[in-house]
Amino acid sequence: MITRSHCQERDTADALAPLRTQFALPEGVIYLDGNSLGARPKAALARAQQVIADEWGNDLIRSWNKAGWFDLPSRLGDRLAPLIGALNNEVVVTDSTSINLFKALAAALHRQAHSEKNAGRRVIVTERANFPTDVYIAQGIASWLERGYEVRLIDSPEQLDTAVDESTAVVMLTHVNYRTGYMHDMRRISALAHARGALMLWDLAHSAGAVPVDLNADGADYAVGCTYKYLNGGPGAPAFIWVPERHQVEFRQPLSGWWSHATPFAMQPLFEPTGGIRRALCGTQPIASLAMVECGLEVFAQTSMQTLRAKSLALTDLFIALVEARCGHHPLELVTPREHARRGSQVSYAHPQGYSVMQALIARGVIGDYREPHVMRFGFTPLYTSFVDVWDAVDALVDILDHEKYDADALRDAVT
Ligand SMILES: *Cc1c(COP(=O)(O)O)cnc(C)c1O
Repeated sequence: MITRSHCQERDTADALAPLRTQFALPEGVIYLDGNSLGARPKAALARAQQVIADEWGNDLIRSWNKAGWFDLPSRLGDRLAPLIGALNNEVVVTDSTSINLFKALAAALHRQAHSEKNAGRRVIVTERANFPTDVYIAQGIASWLERGYEVRLIDSPEQLDTAVDESTAVVMLTHVNYRTGYMHDMRRISALAHARGALMLWDLAHSAGAVPVDLNADGADYAVGCTYKYLNGGPGAPAFIWVPERHQVEFRQPLSGWWSHATPFAMQPLFEPTGGIRRALCGTQPIASLAMVECGLEVFAQTSMQTLRAKSLALTDLFIALVEARCGHHPLELVTPREHARRGSQVSYAHPQGYSVMQALIARGVIGDYREPHVMRFGFTPLYTSFVDVWDAVDALVDILDHEKYDADALRDAVT
């Protein structure tokens, strides 16, 4: 039987525990939603003050050069690269994940349409269970292009084998599913896509900073992802896009704004793309928000994804073991894979009153979230979640379920 003091001992032995002090977490809160909005690095407040008061306030427009604002998307991309198995000059932090998906998908379709062998391919294969914006963006591009472009939705990873065929232009998948925490086998699926002549686009929204990712080694073609989730970049912080060196010369995306021009300040009337990853940029970036991303990445620079992964699995294993030992008599269904190789950094349980139970947990300061249908999501972020947090969260869950301390008629907020 696992006890609270056993969890305390694990915290004492945890080499990552000191990093928690670099985050500003409110007193009395157990934050299990870093998969949706990461906690604030303490350094972000001083950085915001510096950007707003000094760089904007004092230096004004000179900061584009003096404070390196213009290079910020690439500089942050280089800092993020090692976390996802990318090289320098392969990543930029810019725009939103939805917009980056649009650019990457359009570039992939364009590349196929202009290749001799694959010009007739018109199908984008993705999962019905993918995060909606990914599916919507694919549907938007397909319907806007017309000419036979379509989105093919699959219902399980096993269907990839039959769904990816000679008509497939691009396979677009989210590496770790937002609802279930299921993690795809990136290497195997990328190889399958290539064997069928398709390009492979990965969404790393729930992977970057959560699990080790090795885009180049695993043979991915394009990738995008969020910085405001596990990377702790701040609400609505710009996302990232990765294009490997081998695809950059041919990379053409339709949002050909001036930041992707070869000589943006020559003010030429003809668009001529710059070289390298800055081709993925469009226009002026939200510098105040972008600057916060660096504070999150600075914490990651003090550890490694392998160390974080070991603790993440220990936290999710502990959570599952405690829920099973103490809530076994309740109608909770584990929807996250038990197998480590298939599990991201979250644990999801379905419960018929999932929304109401989560509201009761949040009212006690145990913050997770809820996704339809019936799914309570608990995100585990090894940078600032302790083993005792896991114990205390399950303790609250046991009390709420055993004594039905939840409001079965709880009304839905706009954001669940
Ligand atoms: C969170 C998430 C997004 C968010 O996209 P935005 O453009 O930032 O709203 C996109 N895709 C996936 C898979 C996500 O998990």
